[in-house]
Amino acid sequence: MNHIKPNVICITGGKGGTGKTLCAVNLAVMFKNEGNKVLLIDGDVENPNTYLLLNGKLENKKEVPFFKPKIIEKKCSKCGLCSQNCLSNALLHVKDTFPIPMLTLCSGCQLCYKICPENAIEADSKTMGWIYSTTVNGLSLLLGELKPSEARSAAIVEALLEKLKTIIEKEPSKFDIIILDTAPGAHCDVELLIADADIVIPITEPTKFGKLDLIRIMELIKLLGKETRVIVNRSSLLGFREQFLNELEHENIEILGDIPLDSDIVESYCQGTPIMEKNSGFNREGAGYIGFTQIYENLKKWLKTIKQ
Ligand code: SF4
Ligand code: SF4
Repeated sequence: MNHIKPNVICITGGKGGTGKTLCAVNLAVMFKNEGNKVLLIDGDVENPNTYLLLNGKLENKKEVPFFKPKIIEKKCSKCGLCSQNCLSNALLHVKDTFPIPMLTLCSGCQLCYKICPENAIEADSKTMGWIYSTTVNGLSLLLGELKPSEARSAAIVEALLEKLKTIIEKEPSKFDIIILDTAPGAHCDVELLIADADIVIPITEPTKFGKLDLIRIMELIKLLGKETRVIVNRSSLLGFREQFLNELEHENIEILGDIPLDSDIVESYCQGTPIMEKNSGFNREGAGYIGFTQIYENLKKWLKTIKQ
């Protein structure tokens, strides 16, 4: 592929279990099969599982540190300024006592540390989660994991995006294609990843829940001004394929393609071998294989129209 910086494709979906990771992994594999240098970023940091579908291992574990205020009591005048200015109400202060940090509420903004007139707050840190990097069958994978019991998943997504920014700035030709796999939903982790993408592909399924969640995520994508086309997974579910595709068309939602129900896809999940992996042995005439092939061809045509 001939371009200055890699194409960044975000795979998302308003609802969990629609097949986001299935699509992200298989699209990444198809680009790789054609000789592209591909980086897959797993941004579903509360449930990162792309490596399982690739039969890979988590390697090169790196800690994601997070700012934590530490009160130095011998310096503190108990003035309460830090507590009064903390927008997250994460510093409990009762008159004439030392402030008490409530770390689960702390956003890590460091304001208290910067404004304390006595320099009585030290910049300490805690582990918010980890980033792993690995290569599986020629496909590069970057994966974020939130530490159990921590709530600031956006900090891990931000750390992943920081890595992505460094790659694009320092080694723009290291990858041709970057695929971002988001968490389900339309919350800030998802927003951060969509905002960094050139194009966005929400995955849905032909049910009322699927459509409702799709409309929700489409609103977010529209707000962020991104080009988008939808993949309908399990499109043959209960015979609603035509009806569902017509309904999306009626809502002016562009469709990239659809993947019918296929036992090969279920088997590929169980084996941890992407159905589209070269020499995977899955039936090339199967509905899943044909669906993915058509989607890939449509995606390549779409990418040619994207301005870098
Ligand atoms: S602003 Fe500094 S001196 Fe004042 S209560 Fe907070 S830690 Fe203590
Ligand atoms: S770092 Fe920000 S959010 Fe955390 S306690 Fe300090 S002011 Fe509050």
